[in-house]
Amino acid sequence: MDSLPHVTLQDVYRARKRIAAIARRTLLIESQLLTDRARPAGPTDVHIKLENLQATGSFKLRGAANKLLGLTADEKERGVITISTGNHGRAVSYAARRLGIHAVICLSEGVTQSKLAAIKRLGAEVVVHGATYDQAEEQALRLQQERGLTMIEPFDDPDIIAGQGTIGLELLEELPDIDTAVVPLSGGGLISGIALALKSVNPAIRVIGVSMDRAPVMYHSLLAGAPIQMEEEETIADALVGGIGSANKYTFRMVQHYVDETVLVSEEEIAAGMAFALEEHHQVIEGGAAVGIAALLHQKLSQVGNHVAVIVSGGNVATERLLETAGWARIPG
Ligand SMILES: *Cc1c(COP(=O)(O)O)cnc(C)c1O
Repeated sequence: MDSLPHVTLQDVYRARKRIAAIARRTLLIESQLLTDRARPAGPTDVHIKLENLQATGSFKLRGAANKLLGLTADEKERGVITISTGNHGRAVSYAARRLGIHAVICLSEGVTQSKLAAIKRLGAEVVVHGATYDQAEEQALRLQQERGLTMIEPFDDPDIIAGQGTIGLELLEELPDIDTAVVPLSGGGLISGIALALKSVNPAIRVIGVSMDRAPVMYHSLLAGAPIQMEEEETIADALVGGIGSANKYTFRMVQHYVDETVLVSEEEIAAGMAFALEEHHQVIEGGAAVGIAALLHQKLSQVGNHVAVIVSGGNVATERLLETAGWARIPG
């Protein structure tokens, strides 16, 4: 068997110290109704962790800040480049601005206008290129070479993984008996970091990944036993769109090793998750962030523990889109 990538709990603690001035600790609140809906399988309590309230509106700031703060003076001077569906780009732009680093953000034409506008407001150099995430990525690699910039990977990087893992430390402190974490899954940086932190402390904690059923690349890569490529599909969970990289170095193996179960949710189920967060908790959450709630509402997990935390990963959705979605969504139960 391949050995696991070398990202440790110590890296996560180091990340927490590094990013403290930029990324905030987010609220963990109990969701009584989600607890009730998850019965009869029967958890004692279900909590939601509100990364939609993180600065920049998503958890991505944790990894981005950790990566940028770890660059050498020379790398900071030359500037950074990244590729994003929106949230990572916004996080990199925000952290770069705070640190006085020039940032180039590459996005595909599929980027939502609200995410694009937010990145532009932060003063980053924006390059919109190609119809798909993979095409935008090719452009980013070209520019990186030409201009000698440092690539800030959206997920497949030890510093990014360790930064996202700081969520796991907060969960352990606020919910010491946690036995299940339900985590949105795309490239796998978020779930790798959280699983690493949780399982370093208690290997029995179950970590469950949730993806949309429209082109879930990590899900099918796990089934195939190697990173695969899939044609992109449009989804309400726009933050989860994109491949895992055919040359994936870290997250594929970490997800393979740490994640206990991966489940898929439909567009209708995701919409119900967004509407539930709005109605029950008065929280604005985006599609990619709603997949965990959607999985619990629709009883997608093979087993649910007693003390469950669901990661709500971001809130960057245009008001019109949220209201339109909430208008047709059907919350079960
Ligand atoms: C990036 C993102 C994810 C997925 O994170 P990965 O590290 O790519 O698995 C989930 N939700 C939101 C809101 C995101 O921005």
